[in-house]
Amino acid sequence: MADCLFCKIRDGEIPAKLIHQDDRALAFHDLHAQAPLHALVIPRRHIATLNDAAVEDEALIGHLARVAAEIARDAGYAESGYRTVFNVNRGGGQTVFHLHLHVLGGRALEWPPG
Ligand code: AMP
Ligand code: ZN
Repeated sequence: MADCLFCKIRDGEIPAKLIHQDDRALAFHDLHAQAPLHALVIPRRHIATLNDAAVEDEALIGHLARVAAEIARDAGYAESGYRTVFNVNRGGGQTVFHLHLHVLGGRALEWPPG
Protein backbone atom coordinates (compact mmCIF):
# COMPACT_ATOMS: atom_id res chain seq x y z
CA MET A 1 0.00 0.00 0.00
CA ALA A 2 1.36 3.43 -0.94
CA ASP A 3 2.64 5.55 1.92
CA CYS A 4 2.74 2.67 4.36
CA LEU A 5 5.99 2.61 6.34
CA PHE A 6 5.95 -1.14 6.89
CA CYS A 7 5.09 -1.90 3.25
CA LYS A 8 8.17 0.17 2.38
CA ILE A 9 10.29 -1.86 4.82
CA ARG A 10 8.86 -5.05 3.29
CA ASP A 11 9.83 -3.78 -0.17
CA GLY A 12 13.32 -2.72 0.93
CA GLU A 13 12.60 0.96 0.28
CA ILE A 14 13.30 1.82 3.92
CA PRO A 15 16.05 -0.04 5.76
CA ALA A 16 15.37 -2.16 8.82
CA LYS A 17 17.33 -4.69 10.83
CA LEU A 18 15.63 -7.88 9.72
CA ILE A 19 15.35 -10.79 12.13
CA HIS A 20 13.15 -13.14 10.14
CA GLN A 21 11.51 -13.43 6.76
CA ASP A 22 9.38 -16.04 5.08
CA ASP A 23 6.66 -16.17 2.46
CA ARG A 24 3.98 -14.72 4.77
CA ALA A 25 5.75 -12.59 7.36
CA LEU A 26 8.81 -10.63 8.27
CA ALA A 27 10.24 -9.38 11.52
CA PHE A 28 12.66 -6.58 12.30
CA HIS A 29 13.97 -4.63 15.26
CA ASP A 30 11.88 -1.67 16.40
CA LEU A 31 13.68 1.60 15.65
CA HIS A 32 12.82 2.95 19.12
CA ALA A 33 13.32 -0.17 21.23
CA GLN A 34 11.45 -0.14 24.52
CA ALA A 35 13.27 -3.20 25.88
CA PRO A 36 16.51 -5.11 25.18
CA LEU A 37 14.46 -7.18 22.74
CA HIS A 38 11.84 -5.20 20.84
CA ALA A 39 10.88 -6.80 17.55
CA LEU A 40 7.95 -6.20 15.24
CA VAL A 41 6.42 -9.11 13.34
CA ILE A 42 4.32 -8.09 10.33
CA PRO A 43 2.38 -9.89 7.64
CA ARG A 44 3.77 -9.29 4.14
CA ARG A 45 0.25 -8.45 3.00
CA HIS A 46 -0.99 -5.03 4.08
CA ILE A 47 -3.65 -5.36 6.78
CA ALA A 48 -4.21 -2.03 8.54
CA THR A 49 -5.27 -3.15 12.01
CA LEU A 50 -6.41 -6.24 13.87
CA ASN A 51 -9.96 -5.01 13.18
CA ASP A 52 -9.31 -5.62 9.48
CA ALA A 53 -8.26 -9.25 9.88
CA ALA A 54 -10.76 -11.59 8.25
CA VAL A 55 -11.58 -15.22 8.98
CA GLU A 56 -9.19 -16.16 6.14
CA ASP A 57 -6.39 -14.39 8.05
CA GLU A 58 -6.63 -16.61 11.13
CA ALA A 59 -3.76 -18.86 10.08
CA LEU A 60 -1.65 -15.83 9.13
CA ILE A 61 -2.17 -14.22 12.53
CA GLY A 62 -1.36 -17.50 14.23
CA HIS A 63 1.82 -17.57 12.16
CA LEU A 64 2.78 -14.09 13.41
CA ALA A 65 2.40 -15.36 16.98
CA ARG A 66 4.57 -18.40 16.26
CA VAL A 67 7.27 -16.23 14.68
CA ALA A 68 7.15 -13.98 17.75
CA ALA A 69 7.67 -16.99 20.02
CA GLU A 70 10.58 -18.15 17.89
CA ILE A 71 12.23 -14.73 18.10
CA ALA A 72 11.80 -14.64 21.89
CA ARG A 73 13.17 -18.17 22.18
CA ASP A 74 16.18 -17.35 20.03
CA ALA A 75 16.84 -14.28 22.18
CA GLY A 76 16.79 -16.46 25.31
CA TYR A 77 13.52 -15.26 26.84
CA ALA A 78 11.28 -18.29 26.39
CA GLU A 79 11.68 -19.37 30.02
CA SER A 80 12.03 -16.03 31.78
CA GLY A 81 9.16 -14.50 29.81
CA TYR A 82 8.34 -11.81 27.34
CA ARG A 83 5.33 -9.91 26.01
CA THR A 84 3.53 -9.82 22.67
CA VAL A 85 1.20 -6.92 21.88
CA PHE A 86 -1.04 -5.79 19.03
CA ASN A 87 -1.84 -2.12 19.56
CA VAL A 88 -5.14 -1.34 17.85
CA ASN A 89 -6.07 2.11 16.63
CA ARG A 90 -5.12 5.39 18.27
CA GLY A 91 -6.61 4.62 21.67
CA GLY A 92 -4.64 1.39 21.78
CA GLY A 93 -1.41 3.17 20.94
CA GLN A 94 -1.22 2.23 17.26
CA THR A 95 0.79 4.70 15.18
CA VAL A 96 1.69 2.60 12.12
CA PHE A 97 -1.36 1.26 10.33
CA HIS A 98 0.09 -1.99 9.02
CA LEU A 99 -0.64 -4.84 11.40
CA HIS A 100 2.32 -5.69 13.62
CA LEU A 101 2.94 -7.79 16.67
CA HIS A 102 5.36 -6.29 19.18
CA VAL A 103 7.71 -8.73 20.93
CA LEU A 104 9.28 -7.29 24.08
CA GLY A 105 11.72 -9.01 26.38
CA GLY A 106 14.80 -8.63 28.53
CA ARG A 107 13.42 -6.43 31.28
CA ALA A 108 10.66 -6.59 33.89
CA LEU A 109 7.37 -5.75 32.17
CA GLU A 110 4.72 -4.11 34.32
CA TRP A 111 1.07 -5.02 34.32
CA PRO A 112 -1.22 -3.30 33.56
CA PRO A 113 0.69 -1.51 30.80
CA GLY A 114 0.39 2.27 30.59
P1 AMP B 1 2.60 1.07 17.14
O1 AMP B 1 2.73 2.29 17.99
O2 AMP B 1 2.00 -0.10 17.86
O3 AMP B 1 1.88 1.36 15.84
O4 AMP B 1 4.06 0.61 16.79
C1 AMP B 1 4.79 1.15 15.75
C2 AMP B 1 6.23 0.90 16.07
O5 AMP B 1 6.99 1.12 14.91
C3 AMP B 1 6.79 1.81 17.16
O6 AMP B 1 7.24 1.03 18.26
C4 AMP B 1 7.93 2.53 16.46
O7 AMP B 1 9.06 2.73 17.30
C5 AMP B 1 8.25 1.61 15.32
N1 AMP B 1 8.86 2.23 14.16
C6 AMP B 1 8.56 3.42 13.61
N2 AMP B 1 9.32 3.64 12.52
C7 AMP B 1 10.12 2.54 12.38
C8 AMP B 1 11.14 2.16 11.45
N3 AMP B 1 11.48 2.94 10.42
N4 AMP B 1 11.74 0.96 11.64
C9 AMP B 1 11.41 0.18 12.67
N5 AMP B 1 10.46 0.47 13.57
C10 AMP B 1 9.83 1.64 13.44
ZN1 ZN C 1 1.49 -1.69 4.75
